Amino acid sequence: MSDLTCIIIGGGYAGLGALYQLQSATREMENGRRIRFVLVDKQPGHLRKLRLFRPTTVEEEIVIPWSDLNIGGFEFVQGTVTSVESEKKRVQYSDVQGNDACIRYDLLVVTVGSMVRRPDHDQGGIALTDPETVAAIREGWQDNLRKAAEETNPVAQKRLMTVAVAGAGISGIETSAELALSMRKEATALGVNASDISVYLLNAKERLLPEVSEKFRRKLCHEIAECGVSVLNNCKALREEGGVVTLNNGASLEVGLLIWMFGLDPNPGLRNMGLPLTLDGHVLVDESYRVSGAPGVYSNGDCAKIIDSKTGKSEQKTCFEAGIQAIRLGKIVKADLEGRPAPIHKASKSNFDAYTIGLGQKGVVWLRKWGLDVVITGKIPGRIKKMIEDKASYLR
Ligand SMILES: Cc1cc2nc3c(=O)[nH]c(=O)nc-3n(C[C@H](O)[C@H](O)[C@H](O)COP(=O)(O)OP(=O)(O)OC[C@H]3O[C@@H](n4cnc5c(N)ncnc54)[C@H](O)[C@@H]3O)c2cc1C
Repeated sequence: MSDLTCIIIGGGYAGLGALYQLQSATREMENGRRIRFVLVDKQPGHLRKLRLFRPTTVEEEIVIPWSDLNIGGFEFVQGTVTSVESEKKRVQYSDVQGNDACIRYDLLVVTVGSMVRRPDHDQGGIALTDPETVAAIREGWQDNLRKAAEETNPVAQKRLMTVAVAGAGISGIETSAELALSMRKEATALGVNASDISVYLLNAKERLLPEVSEKFRRKLCHEIAECGVSVLNNCKALREEGGVVTLNNGASLEVGLLIWMFGLDPNPGLRNMGLPLTLDGHVLVDESYRVSGAPGVYSNGDCAKIIDSKTGKSEQKTCFEAGIQAIRLGKIVKADLEGRPAPIHKASKSNFDAYTIGLGQKGVVWLRKWGLDVVITGKIPGRIKKMIEDKASYLR
């Protein structure tokens, strides 16, 4: 039987997981088919999105060359996929020189992920979207602290030493903690009073992470406060202009920097790719991640709308979910190729809840299962978080 070509579009966590699991699952197939794997990504390496906030405080390389990952046996093509022609079974892309090109596939996995939601142009501030904006955030607060060290007006100095993070999901929490710890350290090094640093975490909801247990929230709030972050609940930033953040409760905050972190939208590039989409722009898939009306095409991770048919619940957009889906996808594709019934989706956290939140070198881990509500704080959660991040990125 002839070889098949499997293209994976997007080498984020879902794409790398799919590549690894498909390779493992199809290594020894009953009908002896061999598969050639091609990874197409617009970037020259794997972007470690889980660590996207890290370079807001220290210079850290978060784009890893494909050859440095612990996955081999694939060809890499750098290009931005523009469309999928499912009748002709080919993918159109624009290469690094901007030329149009195409590749034929037998199997295709679409894992083009999501994009951090951006504020409107007139809302000011800066959104933590990619390595470039992350570097701009780092330079922004460092520059402000240098100016604060020279500033003689106490009000102006205080403003330069204040940052607000709008959006209190896990990444907002981690970013604000990282910033507070680093800004205090830098202030001390510059001879400025570190206790004048203010980092506000603006939470639109009544309490942090409403879905977690009270015990976990209490410990988390304590740890965040220890890092030097002040959480403002029921508080939404509306816009920032000239260093003044207008809040939804009529009050305002004077800041040196406002960072927006308010969630993820499906990749906007999907709109023109020719794949069937849900109203909110996710790829439409069945319960085995097959793209409707496109034979041989699968999709998972942040870009797909994956629903547990038993509970009707949508999968969350996290790296954990992407990893569990990838394991199932390997089995699904193998079953489809061998003409057997394929597994179907089941919520990745169907019988437990868990969070791992990094706070500088430390962190908080929460697990709720079988009526137990376990919370661990300190350095071990920080190490667990780092281990999860390294494993999800297939680092050597
Ligand atoms: C700041 C931040 C912090 C986060 N923190 C956590 C956390 O602590 N824990 C957690 O579990 N989750 C976290 N998440 C969510 C997590 O990052 C996502 O769920 C995860 O990245 C989804 O993986 P993915 O592969 O589906 O998408 P992505 O990671 O977005 O990968 C998509 C890939 O597709 C490529 N691509 C996109 N368009 C094209 C195209 N047209 N052609 C070719 N290639 C393309 C991109 O370059 C990228 O490599 C965080 C997200 C952000 C933004």
